[in-house]
Amino acid sequence: MSHVLTLNAGSSSLKFGLFETATDPVAVLTGLIDQIGGAATIKVKDAADETLAFAELSPEQAANHVGAVQASLEQIATYFPEARIQAVGHRIVHGGAEFSAPVEITDDVLGRLESFVPLAPLHQPHNLAGIAAAIEAFPEARQVACFDTAFHRQHSFVQDTYGLPRAYYDKGVRRYGFHGSSYEFISGAVAEIDPALHDGRVAVAHLGNGASICGIHGGKSVASTMGFSPLDGVAMGTRPGQIDPGVLLYLMSEENMSAAQISDLLYTESGLLGLSGLSNDMRSLLASDTVEAAQAIDYFCTRIRMEIGSLAAAMQGLDGLVFTGGIGENAAAIRAQICAGLGWLGIEMDNARNAAPDPRISTDNSPVPVMVIPTNEELVIARAAARLL
Ligand code: ADP
Repeated sequence: MSHVLTLNAGSSSLKFGLFETATDPVAVLTGLIDQIGGAATIKVKDAADETLAFAELSPEQAANHVGAVQASLEQIATYFPEARIQAVGHRIVHGGAEFSAPVEITDDVLGRLESFVPLAPLHQPHNLAGIAAAIEAFPEARQVACFDTAFHRQHSFVQDTYGLPRAYYDKGVRRYGFHGSSYEFISGAVAEIDPALHDGRVAVAHLGNGASICGIHGGKSVASTMGFSPLDGVAMGTRPGQIDPGVLLYLMSEENMSAAQISDLLYTESGLLGLSGLSNDMRSLLASDTVEAAQAIDYFCTRIRMEIGSLAAAMQGLDGLVFTGGIGENAAAIRAQICAGLGWLGIEMDNARNAAPDPRISTDNSPVPVMVIPTNEELVIARAAARLL
């Protein structure tokens, strides 16, 4: 039995998955390491999503992503000592303007990925650390890069550019878009559930700690709310989403903030956390009775409605809406609040269905069907790696 390993390295986390590849890849072990660089913990689950192990990492393994990869491999060796890992699929945040599909990682490709670090300084280095650790651990295995940006590379010029002098576009200042593996998975799932809808115009709202919405027509990305960086678009756990660049000029000139300070403000202090003054976690905000928490939720839902309208304009219509991601999949109250303001677009929510999605949550008469589909980015990455074998 051959296996592929998937690695998804975030700024302070590492998700891993072991897949059997006899047919379509099947996850047999998944894990999450949190708080790398601090008091890191590892959680391991089996194929039925039951927790097998939960432990603190040793200080050496907790220190960085190389240690975290070692810790994941130890778990795999414990539960699947016979695993033969023939390929490792890596989630890579940035594939620049050139990568529009998964690619095998050669020395040449690695050099290209390193050249994209300035485009994603907070994420790309961790992805590269994951690759280095995997090459060291599995020198014989093939390494595959799957890009968050790849799904959006077919955007038209107007959806790929900003209104800046062209020289900046040529230098790579473009609207890349992210969450591509999630959108690829959802688009495939829609094709299975409702082939006619897959051929139509679907807005997919990936609402997690990071959040974006993508307009997909006939399975192809038309426009995305995220742009040059994962900061743009809708408000997120700690990121503001859309912001007037004039605000940043003001912060620099009047508040003397440095690039590093503004980066902290935009990546870690804003969004739901900044507006609520309470938490970046939607569960905490829904459980809170403060005015600030309610306003943070209202801002979140309002900007999402506005962006869905904007994507409908980009696609010249809307045939379906899909919710996914931690909030999209689990927060019925948020889905209801978003959809309550979208009747004009042909969206009619069924409250009973919204409480238990299957996967549809709209009424039978709703001109635009609404669904909840759990995403599976790891499976998309495992499939790309397995295709190589
Ligand atoms: P990431 O972008 O880090 O992968 P997730 O997709 O896991 O994030 O989403 C995390 C978000 O999902 C958090 O805001 C969390 O509060 C929210 N969430 C998870 N479960 C629920 C739930 N049952 N109700 C409301 N929000 C939830």
